[in-house]
Amino acid sequence: MKFDTAYCLSLDAKLSIYDVRDLNFDETMAFDSAKERFQCPNDACRAAFDEENRLTTFNAKNVNYIRTPHFKNQPTTQHIEGCPYVSPKTQGLGAEGVEAETDDDREEHFPSELLLTRRQYVRKPSELSKDVEATRPTPPSVSSHGDNTHSAQDSTPDKTSVFAHPVECFVSNFDNKDLLKRMPLKIGEHTAPYGSFFKKIEYLLDNKGLIYWGKIKEIKDYTQSFRIDFEAKVWFKQPDEEKKKPYSVNVYLSKKLIDNYRKRKAFLEEIRHAVDSERDLYCFFYGVTPELKQVPSKKNPEQTFGVFSANIENLDHFIIREAPGLTDQ
Ligand SMILES: [Zn+2]
Repeated sequence: MKFDTAYCLSLDAKLSIYDVRDLNFDETMAFDSAKERFQCPNDACRAAFDEENRLTTFNAKNVNYIRTPHFKNQPTTQHIEGCPYVSPKTQGLGAEGVEAETDDDREEHFPSELLLTRRQYVRKPSELSKDVEATRPTPPSVSSHGDNTHSAQDSTPDKTSVFAHPVECFVSNFDNKDLLKRMPLKIGEHTAPYGSFFKKIEYLLDNKGLIYWGKIKEIKDYTQSFRIDFEAKVWFKQPDEEKKKPYSVNVYLSKKLIDNYRKRKAFLEEIRHAVDSERDLYCFFYGVTPELKQVPSKKNPEQTFGVFSANIENLDHFIIREAPGLTDQ
């Protein structure tokens, strides 16, 4: 059984595994999923057992994962009868029933919207920090409406502010084209099925403002900044030319962008791993659309050549990863 969300005791909120990963890597937030307590998201089920009845996580802290992250039952986890989170597969197996791992390779919970504002969390005062918390003003209620941050209720289960979640849906269900055509995704004002919201980088001229993706040809490591070159080329005809010509596509990540990123360490780990990797890697990004630019030629600085390029503006909407299913196309 995979859980779309789990209840996190200290944050008093239901989190997706992608929220948990985001919190783990966020250097501005003290959070370590290995030390947090997660329980069944069904309120009635949770109320029936004590705090020791917990769920565990899979791929919560691994920067470079291939298999879909999720919450899962521990061998001792109990659910009340009728809890929708009781897996039909494990029912009747008893407390020591071992879960089949075969259903772990797909993300089944498609968020209908990627929220561009990050989710906010308010930590519930714990026994350990009671003294410290007592001196603080009461934190605003998470469920209060009318402020800029969206409430926990709005963000689970079918909305997310973590880019990795819709990307995992797309990647792990890539062979199920019908499903990707059926499931809708909204970002900002734009809604489209997953299958068309994710656009191959070579077709970026078709439509602006989508999630572009493609196989990486090379990552140029300038130590403090990086350039991602895509394998595919964009075929484009200049007004004064007769035929379409192929142009390279790349995206650039500046030092300033990386230095100011709240998940800087995890990002550098991800990209350095990618630079050294011999495996096929893919890049996904949202928020910018590469445009044709003239850049000076290295061999001949007097000359320029055209390249489709964009500066990434928000690393929250940028991912480099392995995606084995995407190779056969
Ligand atoms: Zn339950």
